[in-house]
Amino acid sequence: MGGWAICVHGGAGVDPKLPLQRQEEAKQLLTRCLHLGVSALRYSLPAIDVVELVVRELETDPLFNSGRGSALTEKGTVEMEASIMDGTKRRCGAVSGVSTVKNPISLARLVMDKSPHSYLAFAGAEEFARQQGVELVDNSFFITEENVGMLKLAKDANTILFDYRVPADTCSAGAGAMVMTDTTLQMNGLPISVYTQETVGCVVVDAQGRCAAATSTGGLMNKMSGRIGDSPLIGSGTYACELCAISCTGEGEAIIRATMARDVAAVMEYKGLPLQDAVNFVIKERLDEGKAGLIAVSKDGEVAYGFNTTGMFRGCATEDGFMEVGIWN
Ligand code: ASP
Repeated sequence: MGGWAICVHGGAGVDPKLPLQRQEEAKQLLTRCLHLGVSALRYSLPAIDVVELVVRELETDPLFNSGRGSALTEKGTVEMEASIMDGTKRRCGAVSGVSTVKNPISLARLVMDKSPHSYLAFAGAEEFARQQGVELVDNSFFITEENVGMLKLAKDANTILFDYRVPADTCSAGAGAMVMTDTTLQMNGLPISVYTQETVGCVVVDAQGRCAAATSTGGLMNKMSGRIGDSPLIGSGTYACELCAISCTGEGEAIIRATMARDVAAVMEYKGLPLQDAVNFVIKERLDEGKAGLIAVSKDGEVAYGFNTTGMFRGCATEDGFMEVGIWN
């Protein structure tokens, strides 16, 4: 083992009836982003630059739930969050409640590099963005027709629309429960759109064994204004250290309870488990059923992932020529 490795994700969940065309579009985007990361690694860019580069690309495309195409709050606005961590010195930066910053991941990077803090939110984060001269756009830039439709659906169903799906065999009826019918997925008796966008993330180990992680999201559709999920929380949605790097996706509240990202590193560190075993352990022992997934790399150039949702958009590549892009188990 050894050498560089990279994993990207476009969110856990995935409607089993997701149209094939959408599946193809998602796979193409993940493949393009993987190639971008691989080229950067071949040019010897450090891991921290590669994760930022790849997540910026994912934020720019409206296909997934970050940057343009982000999930909307109950007020129909966009409040994005992102975090980044450099495992070499355990430095990190995060932002929440960002509404005009075109690439929240780069603002998180600036918090890490150019501020005395680790985490800025809402008005203070926006002010910092202006000071740093990052590209700003009107909030309407992030709002797509598709997401306005999704918000309406979530409001009609009087629920927060999680952008993941409960596995069919664990679905049960009841208020707010998602049930699988022959024709479509339903929530509170209403059909759920066949497609929801998902959070993005990237983890990288470079040829020098430096690990880094980045995650970016619009959060959950119809979330309360002011809600903060796992994605900007170091240790929950994102973590990197000397051993490994992790980016999570799924229901933020469950990921926060599980301190998922840090737990993978802790299990490796204190239990001595290899990367994939540590990922499996945390998903089995710490995470509620049907809630989330994660991608990970180790300093030794291994890639790993796991999820207990119906699927997770993801792609992995390693220096020895392995490359895989997938959605389902
Ligand atoms: N984890 C994100 C959140 O709860 C959502 C996602 O991963 O799709 O905000």
